[in-house]
Amino acid sequence: MKIVMLGGPGAGKGTQAKIIAEEYKIPHISTGDIFRANIKEGTELGMKAKSFMDQGLLVPDELVVDLVADRLTWEDAKAGFVLDGFPRTIPQAEALTKALADMGTGLDYAIDIEVPDQTIIDRMGGRRACVSCGATYHIVNIPPKTEGKCDKCGSDLILRDDDKAETVKKRLDVYHEQTQPLIDYYKAQDLLKEVDGTVAMAEVFNAIAAILGA
Ligand code: AMP
Repeated sequence: MKIVMLGGPGAGKGTQAKIIAEEYKIPHISTGDIFRANIKEGTELGMKAKSFMDQGLLVPDELVVDLVADRLTWEDAKAGFVLDGFPRTIPQAEALTKALADMGTGLDYAIDIEVPDQTIIDRMGGRRACVSCGATYHIVNIPPKTEGKCDKCGSDLILRDDDKAETVKKRLDVYHEQTQPLIDYYKAQDLLKEVDGTVAMAEVFNAIAAILGA
């Protein structure tokens, strides 16, 4: 099963992608996570990406396309994958279509999680991420067992720079301008499936599972 997740920042793509990956035993490939890991390790890619991410801007296509095309050739991605946060522009989507075609395959679904902008702004202000393992929480919807501490590794939880209000507004503008056109791109290929992202996390997953089948 080869899936891409679409939706605005904070629509719940990452959360749903993780559940899909577990349920369907396919790798969860998040370009945001790859960039954050590179920032943490202080790599050249990480340093280049950080300056864009902190401003709520997209990292340039040339820094992300080859990275994903390479990741898709790994053995674990042969039977399928769920891409989270990629593609985010039409050139990225075209590069993905081409990379998969070169491997003799193609996508099965593009799942768009729909959430209004104001809901996204409210959600992201409450989001907290672990400084160490990257696990994410929400102060109201998914609180950690101990306030400010990660359930998984005990490290501190922070509001990520790219989740701060001003950055979120910028990210929404960028989403509407550069990423939303992907909805029509995948609709034209008959791959688009839309789900309501305003309901509870488990209900969103049920809707996705109904699309993907057993
Ligand atoms: P995410 O965790 O998917 O919300 O990504 C966090 C940030 O990483 C985004 O706001 C972008 O700055 C950058 N990023 C992640 N994926 C991409 C991509 N496919 N293209 C460009 N920038 C990306």
